[in-house]
Amino acid sequence: MTALNGKVMVTGGAGYIGSHAVLALLDAGYQVVVIDNLVTGFDWAVDGRAAFVRIAVEDPGVRDVIRQHDVKAIMHFAGSVVVPESVSDPLKYYRNNTAATRTLIESAVAEGVPHFIFSSTAATYGTPERVPISENDPKVPINPYGMSKLMTEFMLRDVSAAHPMNHCCLRYFNVAGADPEGRSGQSTIGATHLIKIAVEAATGKRDSVGVFGTDFETRDGTGVRDYVHVSDLAEAHVAALKLLIDQPGESHVLNCGYGRGFSVLEVLDAVDRVTNRTIERKLQGRRPGDPGELVADNSAILKTIDWTPKRDDLEGIVRDALTWERKLAERQG
Ligand code: UDP
Repeated sequence: MTALNGKVMVTGGAGYIGSHAVLALLDAGYQVVVIDNLVTGFDWAVDGRAAFVRIAVEDPGVRDVIRQHDVKAIMHFAGSVVVPESVSDPLKYYRNNTAATRTLIESAVAEGVPHFIFSSTAATYGTPERVPISENDPKVPINPYGMSKLMTEFMLRDVSAAHPMNHCCLRYFNVAGADPEGRSGQSTIGATHLIKIAVEAATGKRDSVGVFGTDFETRDGTGVRDYVHVSDLAEAHVAALKLLIDQPGESHVLNCGYGRGFSVLEVLDAVDRVTNRTIERKLQGRRPGDPGELVADNSAILKTIDWTPKRDDLEGIVRDALTWERKLAERQG
């Protein structure tokens, strides 16, 4: 383990991706303090080995948390993540994502936190001119969600140039699955993501799955995405942290994906194979703002950080998501 002389503060650590990053950090031997306002997260999702403080990232009290816990790195997951909502309520996204993060970075700079890892997104690219997408391709977000994240990337670039902090922005493709040991998973209420919706249908929470668009220029006409196992993604954060510790003064922006895509129908076929059932599919029109194909060029991340994806297997991702969904159903009675 690359030593850090203090704790890692994980914002949004009670949420889906954040709770998996907490597990990966703890499993790698780091000490963790989670901050979360519990608006969408759940305190039971935070592993008992981590300290927990219920506070919003933009609260000035975060400076006290940084001091009291001797925070030496921040992994920032907290924020709003529903793309259509960002279109109808853009100011919520510029507040919760851009403005709140500005205040968090200010707290980090004031307390001299040397490392910052940020959850960015493939939505910063908008509709790509080509796939796979590489980091230097044009960033033209087509919704306020993507713009709110891109603005944060710009802030971090400027802050790292002005202050003794380095950062890594990880641009996630489609995150799915759950901790293979069943310790966490996607629990968000009203989730809209395909694999989550499909396993909800497989466990009887829904009658069918809508297929949003059958006329894209893809192999079967449905949308193609690069689905990444959440535990691989979490491990990428730990590897990025090690790099930031080892190379102060260097910052990075990296795609996080496997570099291959599956169509909506291929995902639903995988769910059918795993469950041995047939989910009813309702073919529908396109969802506004959906690009046809998003696949990462992941050559930069593979070269830059010490990360070997271990779970690049669609059926495995579905199986883990399904196991968690069943557990969640028991919890919710
Ligand atoms: N999708 C779908 N039905 C659903 C949810 C999603 O057909 O109920 C499609 C969506 O149009 C896209 C892909 O599945 O092509 C992945 O969508 P998701 O919302 O999971 O992630 P996004 O790529 O929008 O971030």
